[in-house]
Amino acid sequence: MQIIVIGGGASGMMAAITAAKMHQNDHVVLLERQARVGRKLLATGNGRCNLTNLQLQGHHFHGSAPEFAAFALSQFDPLEWFHRHGLLTVAEPSGRVYPLSDSANSVLDVLRFALQQPNLEQQLGCEVTGVKKSGDTFFVKTATQTLTAQRVIVACGGLAGTKLGGGMSGYQILRSFGHRATRLAPALVQINTEDTYVKALKGVRADAAVTLCRGEETLARCEGQVQFTANGVSGPAIFDISRVASTQSGDLTLHLDLLREYSLPVVQELLEQRARQFPQLTGEDLFTGMLHNRLGRTLLRYAKIPVLPLAQTNPAQAAAAAKDFALPVVGTMGMDCAQVTAGGILTGDFNDKTMESRLCSGLFACGEVLDIDGDCGGYNLHWAWASGHLAGMGGSHDSDS
Ligand SMILES: Cc1cc2nc3c(=O)[nH]c(=O)nc-3n(C[C@H](O)[C@H](O)[C@H](O)COP(=O)(O)OP(=O)(O)OC[C@H]3O[C@@H](n4cnc5c(N)ncnc54)[C@H](O)[C@@H]3O)c2cc1C
Repeated sequence: MQIIVIGGGASGMMAAITAAKMHQNDHVVLLERQARVGRKLLATGNGRCNLTNLQLQGHHFHGSAPEFAAFALSQFDPLEWFHRHGLLTVAEPSGRVYPLSDSANSVLDVLRFALQQPNLEQQLGCEVTGVKKSGDTFFVKTATQTLTAQRVIVACGGLAGTKLGGGMSGYQILRSFGHRATRLAPALVQINTEDTYVKALKGVRADAAVTLCRGEETLARCEGQVQFTANGVSGPAIFDISRVASTQSGDLTLHLDLLREYSLPVVQELLEQRARQFPQLTGEDLFTGMLHNRLGRTLLRYAKIPVLPLAQTNPAQAAAAAKDFALPVVGTMGMDCAQVTAGGILTGDFNDKTMESRLCSGLFACGEVLDIDGDCGGYNLHWAWASGHLAGMGGSHDSDS
């Protein structure tokens, strides 16, 4: 059987490697429109590639039917696969797994080696412009040729990370076979806020509990590192709630608790103690030693506390500001800055045990093009590996992959 995999990203490489090892597949062709495979992979995890996570609970995956992912995730252990193919890894206490080399290149190298199989052909710089089926044969059209296959695996990724290969291709190909897509939204992306206070904080990092609210209603909550930018907030804690920020309407506000380990009365007591100890210092030093200096000074501005000697400042007001630094949301950064696409091709029209389309036999899809996205922490690549592996098996278990 001849198989064509469209897209040489994480899921497509895994699908092609797996398909080439299936005994019934004579020839597998991997078509990648960029000059090399795995370009986005090299940018993942800030160049370190957070390839999976040891904490694999279902609540880390999202979409209109996230339970669709459960079977693929249960069938494949990426860590075991990568170890077997020569990658050494380290796990952080959070469960995030990285290559021991700390370089995404190592992950791609291992995949490139595994792609070297006699029945696996790679065509690079080769963009698929359309796919049609007649009888049992698929006709896959590129700028220069039309290839035929009995099976096609669409692994074109999502719209996120446009400069690294994200695009609409996969959605268009699958739509041409009658598949439907949800609205697409950027996820794992910076949240833009009113810049009155954040502007002065550009580059400052803080550990915070972040709550996203619409009026009194809590929409999402996360704890961890927050990084201030010129026009908003970024960092792991923000990424995890950004999918909610980009999909919900109404007036949204981010509430940052910047001293999350300390209750309001404790923070107030600490500040009162500071004022008693150093009454001659000015209010600017109220938070010195507790928060980044720029953040401490910004909180005073935010709480409208005049710069007076500490003996005359209002610790209760300052403590309240540190426990609830509220930033009105004005949007999120766009798809080109997002790490993943929330939404995609509806999974209900696919068989979760095989990744095959229910609308067109022989047509498979995997990875981000489908309406599944994961939290920050290695979950999106985990989904790409697991779904790519399942799609590559093509419903059979007769492999040595
Ligand atoms: C900056 C950044 C950092 C990230 N960091 C992490 C991380 O550390 N951990 C994590 O789990 N996830 C991370 N992600 C998300 C993760 O990289 C993606 O979810 C994952 O790569 C999706 O895999 P995929 O195979 O579905 O798509 P992709 O990896 O995007 O691959 C799709 C491929 O298909 C090709 N293609 C598209 N259309 C066509 C066509 N018509 N013809 C031929 N080829 C085509 C594209 O060029 C691309 O190479 C990050 C994403 C970004 C942008």
